[in-house]
Amino acid sequence: MKYLSTRGHAARPGFCDILLEGLAPDGGLYLPELIPQISFAELDAWRRLPYADLAFEILSKFIDDIPADDLRDLCRRTYAADVFRHARAGDDPSRIAPLRWLEPGRVGLLALSNGPTLAFKDMAMQLLGNLFEYVLARRGETLNILGATSGDTGSAAEYAMRGKSRVKVFMLSPHGKMSAFQRAQMYSLADENIFNIAVTGMFDDAQDIVKAVSNDAAFKAKHRIGAVNSINWARIAAQVVYYFHGYFAATSSNTQQAAFCVPTGNFGNILAGHIARSMGLPIARLILATNENDVLDEFFRTGTYRPRKASETYVTSSPSMDISKASNFERFVFDLVGRNPAKVAELWKAIDAGDAFSLSGTPHFARLVECGFLSGKSTHADRLATIRERYERDGVMIDPHTADAMKIACQHLGGLPAGVPVLVLETAQAAKFADTLREALGRAPEIPADLQGLEALPQRVEVMPPEVGAVKAFIEARI
Ligand SMILES: *Cc1c(COP(=O)(O)O)cnc(C)c1O
Repeated sequence: MKYLSTRGHAARPGFCDILLEGLAPDGGLYLPELIPQISFAELDAWRRLPYADLAFEILSKFIDDIPADDLRDLCRRTYAADVFRHARAGDDPSRIAPLRWLEPGRVGLLALSNGPTLAFKDMAMQLLGNLFEYVLARRGETLNILGATSGDTGSAAEYAMRGKSRVKVFMLSPHGKMSAFQRAQMYSLADENIFNIAVTGMFDDAQDIVKAVSNDAAFKAKHRIGAVNSINWARIAAQVVYYFHGYFAATSSNTQQAAFCVPTGNFGNILAGHIARSMGLPIARLILATNENDVLDEFFRTGTYRPRKASETYVTSSPSMDISKASNFERFVFDLVGRNPAKVAELWKAIDAGDAFSLSGTPHFARLVECGFLSGKSTHADRLATIRERYERDGVMIDPHTADAMKIACQHLGGLPAGVPVLVLETAQAAKFADTLREALGRAPEIPADLQGLEALPQRVEVMPPEVGAVKAFIEARI
């Protein structure tokens, strides 16, 4: 399998190259040249596979430059009971991402957040850590990962890379802006290859520093600086797996269909659903949920994509969705416009200049309907009401992001054909967002047993002003 850039660059690298590269040289995003098609016979054969082996089968369609035995071993080490906590309760492999029916046969919750950091980003990031280690060892190389986080990405990356001898992680976070639990998750790691830098500014300041360092080609090459942000194709490919897994858990035959509802920020999670559907998985609808930052809901309703400025982006109680320029959206639009890179380059010229584009009234807009997307927007009051309702009715505590999706899923339920279940993707555990849970329920969520006491552990973090020079000097002194 070779990979192409959404903006038409001529190179056709393989998987292991794009794994370490990030953006294509023309600023586009990598996608497989062809979307592999899955036959009914394959679907039948996959239905009963343990999660790790299903992951191997699906990833094999996208990766042909890692020997099969090695890839299978990487998948089995990643999707294992010592990594995903629900699986520890027994050896049932479906417990890597268990499905829980709230309304039997109709509304289910697909649990994707029982990895080390209690957010769904572990599902892909844990695999990425093992892939990095494997490919770097094979090439005799090392990598220094520089990233910025407002919460979930940083901890998922650190837990995936901790203890890996060829990788160091330098993670910038906004000083004093994350929840106490999120701070403790990152700053209590004692591994020598993990460096936490708290900048006295906002998330955007941290992000700007990462961009400035990444744009310094000489520094980047000399110090082998890499990234793990959500544009990495390996993360999308790993996320495709749980759509298949969720579909198998919710249905008994491949003649049935299912819908998925996805709390969306950078469009990585739901893009994986679109890829799964394009591969032939019988997905009736992909339902996109936003919070008050509703750029994507607007696009799916009107065909106009109008990213907002940072000053027009709201800080909400589902903070991982406070995104107004979704970095993976370009991959979806590439498909919509018939995989035409010149068209994508033209549309993104407007976006990069701070403008909008509209596909309304074009044949591309009709393609949107074929792709099966629905959308909706949820607010703080909706989140609180949904959390309360699910707790009182079903006895489950859902986190604010999952609540956004639950609200939108129920809103569209009446429009789905009878017999088509909707699976709400649970992207984080309530324990990560104690303040909002307390506001909704008047009580704090339970912390998993192995994470109790986390906030009392000693913390390691370097506080510094948001200056590029200071961050560069810090990195140089430690590699
Ligand atoms: C990252 C994240 C999201 C958004 O996912 P995207 O792939 O960026 O669309 C939603 N919920 C939680 C809890 C997250 O951490």
